[in-house]
Amino acid sequence: MTVPARTAEWNCTRCGTTNRKLVPSATTRTSDRCTHCGAGHQVEVGVRPVRWNARLDD
Ligand SMILES: [Zn+2]
Repeated sequence: MTVPARTAEWNCTRCGTTNRKLVPSATTRTSDRCTHCGAGHQVEVGVRPVRWNARLDD
């Protein structure tokens, strides 16, 4: 079975790098790690479906 997926695009709050992660289309939040500095973030879908909101992991 193929799960529909979409791209969660988010900006690292530490270094500003744009990261992208493929998530199932029903997902509204996920966690990811910056590919540049390695900072863990909680990422939530934003107003625009492609650009997600990110905040540092506690
Ligand atoms: Zn970063």
